[in-house]
Amino acid sequence: MLVFKLDQEKDHMDYAYDMDIIVRPEAEVPGLNREFGYYMGIGIPLFSIGGGYLRSSIYQILVNFHARRGYYIAETPIISSSSLFELSGHLGFYKQNMYLFQVENRGYAIKPMNCPFHLMIFLNELGKYRGRLPLPFKIFELGRVHRLEPSGSVYGLLRARSFTQDDAHIITPGENAVDVVKEVFDEMLTLYSKVFGLEVSSGSVRLRLSFSERDKIGEEFMGDNKEWERAEGFLERAANEIKEKYGIAYTKAVGEAAFYGPKIDVLMKIGEKEWQLGTIQFDFNLARKFKIYDLIREVFGGIDVYIIHRALLGSIERFLGVYLESFRGRLPFTIAPLQFAVLAIKAGDESDKKVEEVAKHLHEELINLGFRSAYRETSRTSISGDVRLIESRVKPPVIIYVGKREIEKGKFTASIYKGGRRVQKLYDLKDVEALPEELEKEILEVSGAMPRIPGDLSYLI
Ligand code: ZN
Repeated sequence: MLVFKLDQEKDHMDYAYDMDIIVRPEAEVPGLNREFGYYMGIGIPLFSIGGGYLRSSIYQILVNFHARRGYYIAETPIISSSSLFELSGHLGFYKQNMYLFQVENRGYAIKPMNCPFHLMIFLNELGKYRGRLPLPFKIFELGRVHRLEPSGSVYGLLRARSFTQDDAHIITPGENAVDVVKEVFDEMLTLYSKVFGLEVSSGSVRLRLSFSERDKIGEEFMGDNKEWERAEGFLERAANEIKEKYGIAYTKAVGEAAFYGPKIDVLMKIGEKEWQLGTIQFDFNLARKFKIYDLIREVFGGIDVYIIHRALLGSIERFLGVYLESFRGRLPFTIAPLQFAVLAIKAGDESDKKVEEVAKHLHEELINLGFRSAYRETSRTSISGDVRLIESRVKPPVIIYVGKREIEKGKFTASIYKGGRRVQKLYDLKDVEALPEELEKEILEVSGAMPRIPGDLSYLI
């Protein structure tokens, strides 16, 4: 059954489904008389063809973005021996949220977090290269994790059981900690504004500092007084400097810290709602469990170090859900599943053959240049209906029109979606590459790479 929804009634899953990003769990699998969700399980999103392009593009941007800012890049397994999570303590305090299983009489865990793997890598490097290993040590991964959230709280992409964190861990000496926190914050703002085009200002962003309650340190909050005092001091100093530099305000929530350390959460207004996105957290628990304090003391002789977890977007899936819902399915050009729709507008006369030829050639050239394009033939009478359908479903950032008028001038018309509306511009046929280069410019500046992943997606329109 086809259900037609107005844009105002759609939620993020409607957009994700229309744009071929996600397989809708409630949709029936053709021929099987069962829904996709039955086969996938609760809270496990299956990304479709468009979703694959989108994810791969985000990955390329984020990996390059981080590598250029001094992070090492990791790619760690989904499954490990449960011993790793026994060591980290997760089997003690996080067991009810973990997928655990037995094979050949040994316990295994599906990772709910990436930290233990990153610390294992850090220990390996420190053991091998000793004092040559530079600190702060920063390691980044787009880490796919699985958490057994209560089935009643699972909701589309906003709260899934399988998701991907833009996760990094930083091991830093105390003397660099304030700078590290400020750098992470700068990275966040750059990513939000340059890659995702979000408005970043004192009116749209605020910070929340979650601190301990001093007289509960040692009980509810693990670690010692000095550790908490210093770490909270770093966060507050960084927050004050951020306030001075950007005018971004912060609030303090005393007693709201995690048991393992204080943190800064970044709250951002997107559309009409405020969302929690980035986070910067200290961890005194893992530092002890993985013997990091002892080892650093042994190798470097007495410097104090801190382990920091940080994520800029939080989870790719959740961020995508927020974005789709807030901007009604309008995605930035570089990550949009379908980037170009090329329409050949036939007039019903002798010019049709040439129009078809030129439009098809443009479509093929765009694919050769590394873009995702769809080609469709239409006529002057049916074009507005075709465009309406394309706009209500796949929403390509650029629609290209080639008609009689255009080929007479050796040009094509590009209708580019930007800032909430479409702007039309004429381009020379020989300048096909100039158009996408304009649209990619900002991402190229911050990540140094343009994720050009080509595809012929004509079947989508
Ligand atoms: Zn972590």
